[in-house]
Amino acid sequence: MDKFNRRDFLRKASVAAAAGGASLLWACGGAEEESGGAPAVQTRKKYEWKMVTTWPPGFPVLGEGAELFAKWVDEMSAGRLKIRVYGGGELVPALEAFDAVRQGVVQMGHAASYYWAGKTPASQFFASVPFGMNAQQMNAWILCAGGLELWRELYADFNLVPFPCGNTGVQMGGWFKRRIDAISDLQGLKMRIPGLGGKVIEKAGGSAVLSAGGEIFTNLERGVIDATEWIGPYHDYLMGFPKVADYYYYPGWHEPGTILELFVNKSAYEQLPADLQAIIFAASQRSNVWMLSEFEAKNAVYLQKIKAEYKTEILEFPAGVLRAFREYSAEVIEEVTAGDAMSKKVYKSFAKFQKEIGEWADITERAYYSRLSV
Ligand code: CA
Repeated sequence: MDKFNRRDFLRKASVAAAAGGASLLWACGGAEEESGGAPAVQTRKKYEWKMVTTWPPGFPVLGEGAELFAKWVDEMSAGRLKIRVYGGGELVPALEAFDAVRQGVVQMGHAASYYWAGKTPASQFFASVPFGMNAQQMNAWILCAGGLELWRELYADFNLVPFPCGNTGVQMGGWFKRRIDAISDLQGLKMRIPGLGGKVIEKAGGSAVLSAGGEIFTNLERGVIDATEWIGPYHDYLMGFPKVADYYYYPGWHEPGTILELFVNKSAYEQLPADLQAIIFAASQRSNVWMLSEFEAKNAVYLQKIKAEYKTEILEFPAGVLRAFREYSAEVIEEVTAGDAMSKKVYKSFAKFQKEIGEWADITERAYYSRLSV
């Protein structure tokens, strides 16, 4: 855009608008190659695909969003691409979704990319990073500032094509059975918290415990764990956490805007005609917006339900605790990127963009919200 001028911009804008709403979304680059290499001639051939997910069947927002994605693809393709969605464990165990799609057992998966940190550590940066970017900023990096190209480069080695397909928004910091007044209160604390956030808790003297979703409530109730994070008021209410822990801390420093991903078997994807490839991208972005919007709308309602129905104390982490978490997070990221060239490359792009957009956000989002409370 260095030869930018107003007339040129208006001409491009009118061309994009004439081509339909979806074109506007892709006007910011990174997606033009989307249909490259695919058969140019549209066929009436019908495809029946399967999608595995890491969510329980029908799981609110996440599983629902995967189902909606399949419905929208069906509608847009006039039934030429039918996708059957499976919950975790229905076809393959939840955490085998990545390999099932990579190997072509099924054609698609829906998950969060930090689940695959053990296969390729760089995947974590496409889900969420402690003290990283929020949903809006992650979308900006992925869709319009080079993130998707890096993600595709990473996943191409696994015969996969990734798409952002949902976002939780800023999560909550978690449910605690006792107050956290200082970083020393983390000593000996057993918390269910996965990924990079878990490593931060361990640096603070706690232990990060992994429990399957169905076991968290019981573990918290019985004192097997002292704390857990999950997502936000909507899911946390449904999980029953306010019944067994009194302190609900914010903000979710460890997951400030977690992206949910769609990943497609690359060989299968390349066999599709160009219009079906474009439909997959378009439907993934409709799901991307829908899941974030649904989380935000429901979290607002369920925050009020928690406040009305329980004696939950909703508390902000003390500044000193957040400062310590932030220092430990920097150490954790340094350790991950030092040991893996692709993580280093991806995080370089991530960190550069976060710095730039942070300066922009300071005089827009941050300034706006701080003025609301004046
Ligand atoms: Ca979480």
